Amino acid sequence: MKNRMNLPAPLLAGLEKSTYDRGDSDVTVSQLVNPPRIAALLGKHGDQIEEDAADIIWRVLGSAVHHFIDAAAEAHDWIQEERFYKTVRGMRVGGQIDCYDPDAHALYDFKVTSAWSVLDGPKDEWVKQMNCYAHLMRHEGHTVRSAHIVAILRDWSKSRVGGKYPEAQAMMLEIPLWSDDEASAYIDTRVQGYQQNVQALDLGDKLTKCTDEERWLRLKKGKPPVYTRCEQYCSVAKWCDMAPKGDW
Ligand code: SF4
Repeated sequence: MKNRMNLPAPLLAGLEKSTYDRGDSDVTVSQLVNPPRIAALLGKHGDQIEEDAADIIWRVLGSAVHHFIDAAAEAHDWIQEERFYKTVRGMRVGGQIDCYDPDAHALYDFKVTSAWSVLDGPKDEWVKQMNCYAHLMRHEGHTVRSAHIVAILRDWSKSRVGGKYPEAQAMMLEIPLWSDDEASAYIDTRVQGYQQNVQALDLGDKLTKCTDEERWLRLKKGKPPVYTRCEQYCSVAKWCDMAPKGDW
């Protein structure tokens, strides 16, 4: 892990320990909800991605919420940070949930995010991710009646409250649940796209293109198009022939 801000060794060690590992999965839900090109490039190069400690700290703090739930969890049957699996098209698809309350049959995922990112409700990728988790849990015999993102708003400011802006530092976002058939079909399609792109990578063929929407295209009059995801956020840009030339 890189450490351009010279963060201290104990924090670095904690961050390294907390970074996601895929368990026994051939492919993970987090991977599959990405466009197929990204999913396949992650499959091939995921181990070579070197992140900087300062850039992952918010993400890791979201997954650390379970540590302070742990103290209370013993008295309940809450399931925390457990992986669920299903084999699809010969691949073991795995998804690690944050927390499940078996009394309420409710699934929760904790996300540290910007207040601006929740103005219009849950992000599309969160809806997909949670529905995949719900499906994997049902596949292993659990009932899931509701799913929620617990959004912890890292940049929330009291002075901005009003209109769509959230009224507190944390909020619940209800995820619309798909039918089990819909979720199953979605996972099947994503695995198929993933396999096709992995094969294309192996054969040196062309990969499925990311769409403008998936590349987070921003257009401003009189200015060249900006692909925000490619330029700033895509962890596999270094290996992508659609990425604008940059300092990867
Ligand atoms: S760099 Fe852009 S086009 Fe390439 S995989 Fe990432 S988002 Fe898709």
